[in-house]
Amino acid sequence: MDIQALLDGIVAELAGRRGEGKVADYIPQLAKVDPNQFGIAVTTVDGEVYAAGDAAVPFSIQSISKVFMLTLALGKVGEALWRRVGREPSGTAFNSIVQLEHEHGIPRNPFINAGAIVICDLVLAGYKPKEAIGEFLRFVRSLADDDTITIDRAVAQSETATGYRNYALANFMRSFNNLQHDVDHVLGVYFHQCALAMTCRQLSRAGLFLAARGADPIGGYSVVSEKRARRINALMLTCGHYDGSGDFAFHVGLPGKSGVGGGIMAIAPGKASIAVWSPGLNKVGNSALGTVALEMLASRTGWSIFGA
Ligand code: GLU
Repeated sequence: MDIQALLDGIVAELAGRRGEGKVADYIPQLAKVDPNQFGIAVTTVDGEVYAAGDAAVPFSIQSISKVFMLTLALGKVGEALWRRVGREPSGTAFNSIVQLEHEHGIPRNPFINAGAIVICDLVLAGYKPKEAIGEFLRFVRSLADDDTITIDRAVAQSETATGYRNYALANFMRSFNNLQHDVDHVLGVYFHQCALAMTCRQLSRAGLFLAARGADPIGGYSVVSEKRARRINALMLTCGHYDGSGDFAFHVGLPGKSGVGGGIMAIAPGKASIAVWSPGLNKVGNSALGTVALEMLASRTGWSIFGA
């Protein structure tokens, strides 16, 4: 299979559709991003990297970071994590507060905002916010094997200044005793985690352990157990696209995680890790063109986990 030709073909076919969707504007700094960009990268389990379009342009990975923070938190606290966060799809928006009241401050899953905020609270135990952020950044850099990855401070500040909904979620959970640290500290970690800037190339490399049974096939070391990688993939499949998760499974058929910066990381288990980016979002907040590109790639490679 000529993956490079496939990626070039997808970029060419979608050239006329660049700019589709609506750039997230509730985070002022994200509203400034040029909507006409589109990149795609694939890192295979045998260590080959293929890229096309704007695959070397850093973008705000936003909620995709939740996969890496969950992985870090599971390494620290293990299965005890699941006493504080559920594992069910939410069926509501990424920043929804409604279910929290019915479920006593326990978020439905680690990939909606409320769940990711609880994960930050767990990672903060015994650390100052700066140390927790530093540990997270080092972890992602090691996964991507790239020390140039940084956090975009302007994006973090922009969200700190306007993240009213996330403050509400955090305070609400604190009232149920599902946050143990100061709300500002927890959100400080959360906003900086979301503000991580990565390229499609870096992102597809960082996700490779999830395609390779928890091990990094290039570095030759284990990141997580095979069982844990399988479970993180299961969560991405069922909860990775907010209330568009069913539709993403229907059209693409791969575990994936989206972010409001327009990126999506998708995993073809045993085959490859894929990253796409196009800033315009569809109605539920997932990259419009990115989803189309992944559907094309999955159908042309036969990589859907449900069969070719
Ligand atoms: N930082 C964003 C927020 O909390 C992340 C949302 C997303 O990418 O889904 O609103």
